[in-house]
Amino acid sequence: MNNRLYGNLVFELSKKGRKGYSLPKNTYEKYSVADLPAGLKRESEATLPECDELTVVRHYTNHSANNFGVNNGFYPLGSCTMKYNPVINEEVAAMKIFADLHPLQPAETCQGALEVYYNLQIMLSNITGLSEFTLNPCAGAHGELTGLMVIRAYHQSRGDEKRTKVLIPDSAHGTNPASAAVCGLEVVEVKSLADGTVDVDDLRSKLSDEVAGMMMTNPNTLGLFEKRIPEIAAMVHECGGLMYYDGANLNPMLGACRPGDMGFDVMHINLHKTFSTPHGGGGPGSGPVGVREGLEQFLPTPRVTEDEEGVLHVMTGDYEKSLGSIGSFFGNFGVILRAYTYILSLGKENIKMVGPLATLNANYIKERLKDVYELPIDTVCKHEFVFNGLKDKSTGVTTMDVAKRLLDYGYHAPTIYFPLLFHEALMIEPTENESKETIDGFVEVMRTIAQEAKDCPDEVKSAPHNTPISRVDDVLAAKHPILNWRQLKEDQAKAE
Ligand SMILES: *Cc1c(COP(=O)(O)O)cnc(C)c1O
Repeated sequence: MNNRLYGNLVFELSKKGRKGYSLPKNTYEKYSVADLPAGLKRESEATLPECDELTVVRHYTNHSANNFGVNNGFYPLGSCTMKYNPVINEEVAAMKIFADLHPLQPAETCQGALEVYYNLQIMLSNITGLSEFTLNPCAGAHGELTGLMVIRAYHQSRGDEKRTKVLIPDSAHGTNPASAAVCGLEVVEVKSLADGTVDVDDLRSKLSDEVAGMMMTNPNTLGLFEKRIPEIAAMVHECGGLMYYDGANLNPMLGACRPGDMGFDVMHINLHKTFSTPHGGGGPGSGPVGVREGLEQFLPTPRVTEDEEGVLHVMTGDYEKSLGSIGSFFGNFGVILRAYTYILSLGKENIKMVGPLATLNANYIKERLKDVYELPIDTVCKHEFVFNGLKDKSTGVTTMDVAKRLLDYGYHAPTIYFPLLFHEALMIEPTENESKETIDGFVEVMRTIAQEAKDCPDEVKSAPHNTPISRVDDVLAAKHPILNWRQLKEDQAKAE
């Protein structure tokens, strides 16, 4: 694609005096700009780009074509389940009856929206086997914090003040220890065994009457099913702690099993992973929290409840033990609508196929690539799995190089250098909604790159070659972000 001319900053395309607009005629004949009070006028001209209309249209259209997303290519990111977001989700979320709602409008005027909200609470309970859900949290990490606050409130309500420790496996997503710390709890790390699952002996040695609970991800962050969950749950319960389930990526469980049946007391789900909604760049998200029977009174408000006549109500202040408000109003209603639409379009029967298909797709890729990529834990995985770089380490080609080379072939890179258990981690998740042909195409490209690493390693190490910009200095970008045009110009002037 040749977008040199139109691909730069719109300011750089500016030519003094060019115009791509015409302002409407001033119909207030008595007044002109000259009549504005001096104090309201700008002191200097606004620095706006001056371009003709076609230049502006091409500039932005070409930029939009540089975006990569689920809608234009395969996106095998692990631990961050990026789903296809069908257009129907957007249509529903944009419907005027929903988009024009105000969060403070009386319940009798928005029964339809409350019905969506209430039904989704119930659907999530059925899907997970837990008693009640709040849809208020606005992200996975926000859900973790809310769930941990419920656990803390539970212990405090029983006068059990010394429970301040949270057990977290070393393979956990980074938000788990972060949320525990934000909640004022102390993180105690639990080791993994060589097979990637929780070391139950290490866990046993860390149990005490100071343990508030344990956070687990299952399948864990290596994509492996924790087979000893019943035993682990029994141990933690016996010492008085509660079990927290990180259900950010719940798709492998749909149709297979339910956290509530496995002994978990509190959990969150990322609607923006498990039930679609694109979430690149940090939002928007939704991280509903579910609890088992007996913990409902601690959930935050507002809550939507139904009376005997089927009328829905918004409950805010009437709960003595509730955490109260944990964010603004009801959470991200747009994401809730998308998840609701996604679940309804799948239907009760098809949703049972999600887990088996996600698992099949991941295992298929793993088996077709494990002769050329190193598979440290060679076992049946769930929705995702982790390679430790290329099998042939003599080429010097790293996981970073493979990820960059994939961009040349039109694929989004998998998750790399996470989890931290292997030096060259390359984590792949295809999701259930990809066709066999797409997956075969990805496998072929991954094999081609493995071959290139042998035949022409420099080609791979210097990738990407076909993207508008090549390798960026990500450390510099993090430490010294340049976030606007003026700053760029100032930096360039300083450098000269
Ligand atoms: C993504 C993810 C989270 C955090 O979710 P956010 O919405 O990004 O805060 C937590 N745990 C796991 C396993 C995840 O994959």
